[in-house]
Amino acid sequence: MQTVVLASGNAGKLREFQQLLAQCGFEVRPQSDFGLESPEETGLTFVENALIKARYASAQTGLPAIADDSGLAVEALQGAPGIYSARYAGPDATDEENNQHLLNAMADFQEPERGARYHCVLAFLRHAEDPTPLLCHGQWDGTILTAPQGNGGFGYDPLFYIPSHNCSVAELDPTEKSRVSHRAVATRELLAALSP
Ligand code: IMP
Repeated sequence: MQTVVLASGNAGKLREFQQLLAQCGFEVRPQSDFGLESPEETGLTFVENALIKARYASAQTGLPAIADDSGLAVEALQGAPGIYSARYAGPDATDEENNQHLLNAMADFQEPERGARYHCVLAFLRHAEDPTPLLCHGQWDGTILTAPQGNGGFGYDPLFYIPSHNCSVAELDPTEKSRVSHRAVATRELLAALSP
């Protein structure tokens, strides 16, 4: 088994990656096992921020690293909140504050102008100076509701409606979310790239 460090403090992401990457001979360990916290995300794209996080974790541990950078891009808002999704309403904003901020920003838009897309970029670095990192991108299309619906998921899930399932992501079965989400798509792509 080859050890790989996950550049994230998210327990849910850790469980998912541990299961998935075990099939490819990787033991995934969280950066917290090495006393690391995430570096500042100074990039202007999901790709740059995923690389910043993975490169830092790899440099600090001397191990291969994987990082996930994700967010919501709303068409009518020219792609906002984008890379600022976690801090849309301010540096320490809660999910509820971010969702309210989004509802306010969307107040003047009606269907069909409420289209949005979740993005997930995964970066895998074999070592900190790897010049050819693996980069995988998953997307998930939906629309922004006019009020929150459902109690599951996290982040913008109560406002993200998916026509294919006729519900918000917060109303979706978690197993189904982990099968069809932007993260699922990017992860499958990464698995294919890592498979011998
Ligand atoms: P990151 O942890 O820096 O990649 O920030 C991701 C942010 O994007 C989260 O805090 C959420 O606001 C949003 N986001 C990403 N993926 C999802 C998702 O699956 N559901 C809801 N919100 C998400």
